[in-house]
Amino acid sequence: MLEDYKRDMYWCSACEGCRLGSFEALDDPICPTGERFLFESYYAEGRMVNARCLMDGKLEWSERLIDRYFTCLRCGACAEICYKEMGRHLLKVIEEVEKELVRRGIGPHPKQRYENYEKFFKNYRERQEEAVKKMSEVEAMYFLGCDLSCYNKHITEATIKILESAGEKFATSPRAWCCGYPIIYTGQMEQAKDIVTSNVDAIESLGIEKIISSCPHCTRIFKYDYPEILGSELGFKILHTSEYLSEMIKDGALKPKTPVMEKVTYHDPCLLGRQGGKVYDQPREILRSIPGINLVEMNRRTGNA
Ligand code: SF4
Ligand code: SF4
Repeated sequence: MLEDYKRDMYWCSACEGCRLGSFEALDDPICPTGERFLFESYYAEGRMVNARCLMDGKLEWSERLIDRYFTCLRCGACAEICYKEMGRHLLKVIEEVEKELVRRGIGPHPKQRYENYEKFFKNYRERQEEAVKKMSEVEAMYFLGCDLSCYNKHITEATIKILESAGEKFATSPRAWCCGYPIIYTGQMEQAKDIVTSNVDAIESLGIEKIISSCPHCTRIFKYDYPEILGSELGFKILHTSEYLSEMIKDGALKPKTPVMEKVTYHDPCLLGRQGGKVYDQPREILRSIPGINLVEMNRRTGNA
């Protein structure tokens, strides 16, 4: 509930850290929506002020808030700065305002509404149960989600090749399984609970002990949002591909041999780094293990990426 984060929204000291960024890179603004709309209420500070006004009854819950809150990309750059400097949880405040807007029937943005996905989620559980019946019990599952089963298939194919070359035994999730990200990240929690429960039941019924995902969104959603939505820990472990493969490289189960004579850099995805268990080292360890790779770092990296 929004009330639970009163301390976070009321103690905003208007320091502008969430607009200007860290002390190490002050000339490099961090909030994508603030920089896009150039209006105070599209930065975290403005979002905190509006949340306070809503709590105090000085601002009405209205459609004017939809854009102000649902445009937030939840990249967490503001929260990283604010938490580091002030110990505040900005994203929780933004999330709770969004959930309340949904509860009141005001948000989200029309294009983000569950109704737009309803056709896809219709009979989701039945389709999932049918798919599970055709699968055998297995220890690990490579979870694809929408992006890796429909769009970035080259990542899926390459990852499967690597896992198979190391002799790993795993199942691949059927194409139509969704982690629930579009629904969860727009505060539509009632509908999200059905998808989450259905996924967890399907995975547990297969005896799966670990889920491997190449998608930062799926990884983050499974790791942190599922336990929060269900109110209990999951009976299986979630690992991003980079966590899984870096362990295999350390154990000697996987050895990159083909030289890649390239100068490369690594951009930390927000949902894998600052919002996904701070997975910063593993992707770099994998890159460094490839012969010939010259890994160079950008000024903005890890929590400040
Ligand atoms: S960084 Fe935190 S304390 Fe500073 S203005 Fe932003 S929300 Fe307020
Ligand atoms: S989460 Fe990202 S987009 Fe949202 S207010 Fe913070 S910096 Fe801006």
